[in-house]
Amino acid sequence: MRKLLVAGNWKMNGTSATNKKLLDGILTHADSFNSVDVALFPPAVYLQQVQQALKGTNLSWGTQNLSQFRQGAYTGEISAVMLKDFGCRYVLIGHSERRCLYAELDLDQLVLDHIIAEKYEMAISEGITPIVCIGESPEEHARGETEEIIGRLLDITIERLGVKALSQAVLAYEPVWAIGTGKSATPEWAQEVHSFMRERIAKHDPTTAETVQILYGGSVKGNNAAPLFSMPDIDGGLIGGASLDVDEFVSICQAAV
Ligand code: PEP
Repeated sequence: MRKLLVAGNWKMNGTSATNKKLLDGILTHADSFNSVDVALFPPAVYLQQVQQALKGTNLSWGTQNLSQFRQGAYTGEISAVMLKDFGCRYVLIGHSERRCLYAELDLDQLVLDHIIAEKYEMAISEGITPIVCIGESPEEHARGETEEIIGRLLDITIERLGVKALSQAVLAYEPVWAIGTGKSATPEWAQEVHSFMRERIAKHDPTTAETVQILYGGSVKGNNAAPLFSMPDIDGGLIGGASLDVDEFVSICQAAV
């Protein structure tokens, strides 16, 4: 039986004062979802604030990205060692907002997938669980390429790191057309894609396929979380906008109980 995980990606939002309100509000309700893994992903500058607030609670924390390099002359980047220093349990990798930014620099998609695999390797080398985000764009969705896109990233990761490495990771299916649009995938669509992902991994190792957590992300709110989380291959959610609102986020966490 896989445990459910609810991950709140704050993106580039918040100040020390608004973070405090949000953290206090969530912690007031934390007992009502202590059977669920819950993690928060603040902007890196607020990592210390979040670490101090969550230390000793049932919630974990992480960052929204990390460098694929260990250390050195990489201005503006954050290393896996630094994340470990701040007690991070997780790190988001390959979020579509990051992928789009890199695509603007004309990086070839295959090169981008390899960089994501390098970041993955770096995170697990420091004992940090990568949450690897994958999903198709609206155009790819319309062309019926969902499985091709997702299959390719899974294959690259497995080829590079070996299938067993996936047991140290979390996967998140995040269709780009559903992120921040208010238009969530239906539970049935998401279930179909999650099941495809498990089948693809099972070709290499059925045990890893059965145990890896696969989250759904894309416009999850308090009022649609329960039917998504009740699907057999959906193990929780990666939550953007709704993670900034105490009531919404708490009700999503409670839907995972
Ligand atoms: C996200 O940023 O990963 C996300 C799923 O955002 P939202 O919940 O706002 O769609």
